[in-house]
Amino acid sequence: MKAFYAEEQKRHDPKAFLSSGAPQPNPEQPERVERLLAGALSAGCTIERPRNHGLGPVAAVHTPEYLDFLEHIYARWQRIEGASAEVIPNIHPIARNGSYPASAVGQAGYHMADTACPISGETWQSALWSAWSAVDAAEAVISGVPAAYALCRPPGHHAFADVASGFCFINNSAVAAQVLRKQSARVAILDVDLHHGNGTQGIFYARPDVLTVSLHADPVRFYPFFWGHADERGEGPGLGYNFNLPLPRKSDDAAFLEALEVAFQRIRAFSPDALVVALGLDAFEGDPFGGLSVTTPGFLRIGEAIAKLGLPTVIVQEGGYLCDELGDNLTAFLTGFGGKMR
Ligand SMILES: [Zn+2]
Repeated sequence: MKAFYAEEQKRHDPKAFLSSGAPQPNPEQPERVERLLAGALSAGCTIERPRNHGLGPVAAVHTPEYLDFLEHIYARWQRIEGASAEVIPNIHPIARNGSYPASAVGQAGYHMADTACPISGETWQSALWSAWSAVDAAEAVISGVPAAYALCRPPGHHAFADVASGFCFINNSAVAAQVLRKQSARVAILDVDLHHGNGTQGIFYARPDVLTVSLHADPVRFYPFFWGHADERGEGPGLGYNFNLPLPRKSDDAAFLEALEVAFQRIRAFSPDALVVALGLDAFEGDPFGGLSVTTPGFLRIGEAIAKLGLPTVIVQEGGYLCDELGDNLTAFLTGFGGKMR
């Protein structure tokens, strides 16, 4: 399988992260790339460098104001006397019905939902190249390969049209889906990350042409808390085109695969022309987040099951954090998927 990745994606190196109010090392480490690259190679992938696609495919799902913020906020932040080394917000609008602030601190609060997405001098370029990996994977599928893998890091599924959050800046899965729309009337996004794909849901919430389906740990007591519940079904013309399957904490392979079958029923009813898999590997039993209990053989079965949908598929890397099995879990998924592909 073709895989896409650029060295620039490794430069983003976030330091800080507040967990239950306590400063912790940020889990979205550059080292993840090494593990994922090894995993992709073990599954027989060939790694290609993506092309520079400019802002076009990114601007197709994000606002101009937000992209301008991402590109320039770090330099602006450095001009604030006594500011932190990384851009981290400390105030947020409780609702989006006020004014757009002119100040760097105000805009950081407006465009960053939490402290898990600190912005350094390397973040913008890393996030852009990560998105371009998704673009090239989608274009490979458009050109006729049955599936391609985008090693997207930083990840993307918590990024809304104009908000960064949860380690995410540009929504790579949404970018891939939008590229696929050039050729496909209907695209489904299946998000199997431990966490609900709230940014992806938000971007397509009012659209009937992109079905968003997410399996994840029940957000009633888990990030992202405010989204991912079963009663969020879309709005306006998009009503009925968002489908959430929250799972009890510590759900195992059998429970995950059972929920996946329910997701497949909805996807088949939608009859998409192409599929994006938002592939988080943090549902793993040994992942530092510890929310679900999927095993390494479980990822192989998940890959096999998704391949049986028989759709042209872009696999976009989302979460999955440092543990000995991170690369093995990617190998397992891609091997399972490749083995059952048409
Ligand atoms: Zn996650």
